[in-house]
Amino acid sequence: MAIIASNFKTNHTRKSTAAFIEEVNTFLKEKNITNEVLVFPTATSLDSFNTVSNLTVGAQNAYATQKGSFTGEIGTEQLDEFNIKTILIGHSERRHILGESQEEIAKKFNFYKELGYTIVYCIGEPLEVKEQGIEQTLEYIYEQFVGIDTNYENLILAYEPVWAIGTGVTATNDDIKAVHSAIKEKISKPLLYGGSVKVANVHEICSLDGVDGALIGTASWLVEDFKQIIENTK
Ligand code: PEP
Repeated sequence: MAIIASNFKTNHTRKSTAAFIEEVNTFLKEKNITNEVLVFPTATSLDSFNTVSNLTVGAQNAYATQKGSFTGEIGTEQLDEFNIKTILIGHSERRHILGESQEEIAKKFNFYKELGYTIVYCIGEPLEVKEQGIEQTLEYIYEQFVGIDTNYENLILAYEPVWAIGTGVTATNDDIKAVHSAIKEKISKPLLYGGSVKVANVHEICSLDGVDGALIGTASWLVEDFKQIIENTK
């Protein structure tokens, strides 16, 4: 049984998100699929889905607060309203585009851990680090665990090499196996792979040793493709 997660990033409207989630929910029920399926829509589309039973809806981001003066952010008061108890933390776009430091990420992690949220925690190296070799890659990744409780019971990890995200370039099976086996030796938590996963390669990737599922951006945004991805990994 694989864990399959879709990250909408800044795509889909409330209307299209609602239709997507309803269709996937019905599909899971009708096909009797036992994969754990998570969907991370935009913050504006988090409402109304607390009744779906076959998949989990999570937040792509939220601030480490219940409420307060943090312009542009949401906190647990807003997440509670929609019964959201799952959050993505450490995604490479938040680290590298939005400039979140490891310290901020760890603070967020600890805040949501204290509240018992399921945390999908992302790690991964940029291209210039990958090019230095596996030792440097692992060293870089281990730095992304500073301040993070890797024994937290509701933790799911996602290895997402930055150079593979949204680029169409998937890591090779050997790349994935090398990083996954090293992380698995240290941390016994579900570990997803993310980075240009698509309908055509998801089965092979999810069959690799040490891969417990996939976190998918681009290839998950069309509902037919997402259903096929789930079907290919059931
Ligand atoms: C992601 O954003 O987590 C991701 C893996 O994106 P993509 O599948 O588009 O590479």
